[in-house]
Amino acid sequence: MAKIATELQTLLRNIDRRGYPAYKDTKGSYNFGRYILSIDHVQGDPFAAPSKVSIHIAGKEAGFPVEYYGKRERRIALQDYLLRLFRKEVDKYNFKAKGSGKSGLMSASRPGQEVLERTACEMDAATGDLTVRLEVGFPANGRTICSYELIKILFDFLPKCVQDVLYYKRLDSREVEETMFLADDRKYIRDGLEGWGLVAFVANGSVLPRESGVSDKPMKNSVTFTSPASMEIELQLPHKGAVKGMGIRKGITLIVGGGYHGKSTLLKALELGVYDHIAGDGREYVITAPDAVKIRAEDGRCVKKDDISMFVNNLPNGKQTADFYTEDASGSTSQAANVIEAMESGASLLLIDEDTCATNFMVRDELMQRVVHRDKEPITPFIERARHLYEKRGISCVIVAGSSGAYFHIADQIVQMDNYVPQEITALAKEEAAKYPVLLLPEQEPGGPDYRRAPGAGGARHGGGAGHRGGRGGNDRNGGDRDSRVKIKGMGKEAVSLNKETVDLRYVEQIADSEQVMTLGYLLAYAEGNLFNGRDTMQKAVDTLMDMIEKKGLASVVPGSYLPSGLALPRRQEIFACFNRYRNLKL
Ligand code: ADP
Ligand code: MG
Repeated sequence: MAKIATELQTLLRNIDRRGYPAYKDTKGSYNFGRYILSIDHVQGDPFAAPSKVSIHIAGKEAGFPVEYYGKRERRIALQDYLLRLFRKEVDKYNFKAKGSGKSGLMSASRPGQEVLERTACEMDAATGDLTVRLEVGFPANGRTICSYELIKILFDFLPKCVQDVLYYKRLDSREVEETMFLADDRKYIRDGLEGWGLVAFVANGSVLPRESGVSDKPMKNSVTFTSPASMEIELQLPHKGAVKGMGIRKGITLIVGGGYHGKSTLLKALELGVYDHIAGDGREYVITAPDAVKIRAEDGRCVKKDDISMFVNNLPNGKQTADFYTEDASGSTSQAANVIEAMESGASLLLIDEDTCATNFMVRDELMQRVVHRDKEPITPFIERARHLYEKRGISCVIVAGSSGAYFHIADQIVQMDNYVPQEITALAKEEAAKYPVLLLPEQEPGGPDYRRAPGAGGARHGGGAGHRGGRGGNDRNGGDRDSRVKIKGMGKEAVSLNKETVDLRYVEQIADSEQVMTLGYLLAYAEGNLFNGRDTMQKAVDTLMDMIEKKGLASVVPGSYLPSGLALPRRQEIFACFNRYRNLKL
């Protein structure tokens, strides 16, 4: 039960000027009338990671209409909207309270352009109960408590932040409604793609390029997107009404054009089109099949017994490619593994940019085919498998290929980027291609791949078992300390480490946020301690994990008595990507 807020104030007054550990007594829940303040974790000293605080508002109090949070897409959009408002308020008070180190810090999650489900702001789909999580640096001078500064934060600043943005009555109801409408319209397109025979839609007027390499904001004064007439479709969105744009049909789509004409920019927009974007982003109506995966070469990655025999066979060193294992893959084998793992994750669309491909994985030209016989070449290039992937397995691809015409032969539609404006040139390109020898395809259709590999229980190498709240106690073979937890550290969008083992995620390009990376760390630790058992396949483990998150929330897989504020949900595809790059995976 929550105590009353004045109890907290009295407690704080009493511990003023005492040693920092006295702050620990503040842990607990306090009733502030219209909300509950919960102090979930108290930092050890003013220089340590800040304390964790959460705000809980009953659905009735928050007052949002049930039709705004009952459905998933709307709820996530609303949470995202509220978090952005809250963040802005909190920023005003950051370090307004004074002291040493992180004293006075007030910080909520900082979302980028994507709308993601985050622990920083969660609304219960049934009750509308709202939870907002933030970090607060409890103030001190040196290690001497300045509790009057904390009283300012908890009894003055924070109530102001909460009252202005977390109650429906205080908000601009039109803007909230528009946020809901945008969520509906995006969902309408995403759900519709499959039935319309499309893998992606790019609305006319979209702004695809970003401000700079370090800013995800839309580029100003760019050439806005216009569909080629032949590929233009008109959709009737539930709220916005008629919207025209380019429909990329299922099959093999080629994007060609001279250097610097906007090919990679279009592909990048498609990669991130698996996520929803906020109003004003320019990519609100750039919508890609939700399971699309970017494929690239990734020299040096580990490959854990993938069946890459569809692309690589008869290696000179005799290595088996039906369960290919390496700690240091080449350009082509890494790219083959990336394709197989995307298939394993259920991708229906592969996105490929020649800028980041291994050439020998993509094509083998005719002259080379004549000189070096097929039997002497372990690699069956992607060009010889792409039609099979589409026709027999329903996997489409969009390929940026500015320098090789070979793909003209197998493409279903060909788009040329010309000064950032796409033109469809399928007929012309096919006519030219007909003058060249046809592509020789391998006689045998590939079987497989076999996804039966089953990772074993892990955590042994570094001695720490994964202790998980409510779990099966993790793996405590090594000394049996049930409380010892895997130490998880995120490094931006680049990597996450479990204990000392780093998982390199630099080339997993559809990770949109560092908070997804942190979550991936927790998910991997959970899977290693609880799901990997040497019998269940990787697919089964990921299915189980996703099912748990869906039914019981992230709290069911993240250890500890409270949820950290900085977690965002990754897609199923990135969960596979992370697990597959874990060098400690027992296989
Ligand atoms: P390509 O892959 O064809 O070589 P890029 O997509 O990398 O070309 O684009 C080249 C440059 O043009 C980039 O700096 C990008 O930001 C810019 N750019 C891309 N699309 C547009 C656009 N629609 N309007 C203005 N600039 C653009
Ligand atoms: Mg490019």
